[in-house]
Amino acid sequence: MRKEYLLAPGPTQVPPEVLLEMARPVFHHRTGEYRKLHEEVLAGLKAVFRTENDVFISSSSGTGAMEAAVANVLCPGDKALVVQGGKFGERWTELCEAFGAQPVVIEVEWGKAVDPEIIRKHLNDDPDIVAVYTTLSETSTGVANDLQSIGAIVKKNDAILVCDGISSVGAVPMETDAWGVDMLVVGSQKALMMPPGLAFVTVSPKAWARIDFCESTAYYFDLKRARKSMKTFDNPWTPAVTLMVGLRKALEILNERGIEQIWKDHTRLAQAARAAAKALGLELLADPPADCVTAIRLPKNVDGVELVKKLRTEHGITIAGGQAELKGTICRISHMGYAGDYDVIIAISALEMILDEMGCELELGAGVRAAEQVLKNDQGTSE
Ligand SMILES: *Cc1c(COP(=O)(O)O)cnc(C)c1O
Repeated sequence: MRKEYLLAPGPTQVPPEVLLEMARPVFHHRTGEYRKLHEEVLAGLKAVFRTENDVFISSSSGTGAMEAAVANVLCPGDKALVVQGGKFGERWTELCEAFGAQPVVIEVEWGKAVDPEIIRKHLNDDPDIVAVYTTLSETSTGVANDLQSIGAIVKKNDAILVCDGISSVGAVPMETDAWGVDMLVVGSQKALMMPPGLAFVTVSPKAWARIDFCESTAYYFDLKRARKSMKTFDNPWTPAVTLMVGLRKALEILNERGIEQIWKDHTRLAQAARAAAKALGLELLADPPADCVTAIRLPKNVDGVELVKKLRTEHGITIAGGQAELKGTICRISHMGYAGDYDVIIAISALEMILDEMGCELELGAGVRAAEQVLKNDQGTSE
């Protein structure tokens, strides 16, 4: 019997309870039933995002909410500071360009985090910068950026802080309000245990001042229009009702466990994945690594594109390879959202088997054993 395992950093697995919720009949959205659903989902999201700020839901993938965080904030010609340390940082730059703004790009070596002091220096030197675009976990490299330190720097400035937390929020710590993140962007198909199709953006009072000042070219993603509808828990357009019903269930599961416990759960799985990679003599790409996805450098003689393809088509295991300049040289294993101990064991076991199959010298079981050593200890190890 062939089984399929989805262990990629998005889309991720969806709990059966959530899938079952979404099997219910569709209902109309201009109703009290929908408004109640919307209100409950917003409360659940605010608990996960750790914010009292406004939260908007768009029927799009994560990039739609990224577009909202650019189109509503930057007028043509406006300067924005962009941290670019991977594929998703590049997306901020491309979005700024698409809306006629001027990105000032901080190039960060792929696999490394941005030094917050560089952001401070740019803001001090250039008072025309109106927004800073960052990524919490750069999913293309598995790196975690220090948003707490970045927030402390941007807070003292007139610029607003925008953060792409699409893959990481719901997996790794994000204190939106306490850290001063003015706009946080999140997607449904990563740590929130949902299928693709919903995206979220939070808006602080400081970000609203900027948005109200800006003559935006946004239409579908117009946040001012969304704010008006929000007063009655309505949406300007037809919301993705079925996904919203699923999300209410997913949030109920997350908030029942509690977001702080969930962060710890992710750390434990990440420690197991990292210990396994090291035990196999493989290097980790990310420094520092985020606890939602583990990026592993493959041995030089292994074609990473082939490895990922063989795993999926011959073994039923979907993990991710490298993107752009990392193509063929790394693999990325996700342990976020609806992932447990044995998802990590399966991923590591599959990696061992495929590397063996592709002619690498390694001790079968060494990675699995190292992962088990971490997982049998409920607290995880302190690395
Ligand atoms: C997945 C991801 C995105 C892209 O989101 P889409 O849902 O594909 O539009 C953006 N940023 C990060 C960090 C991601 O992990």
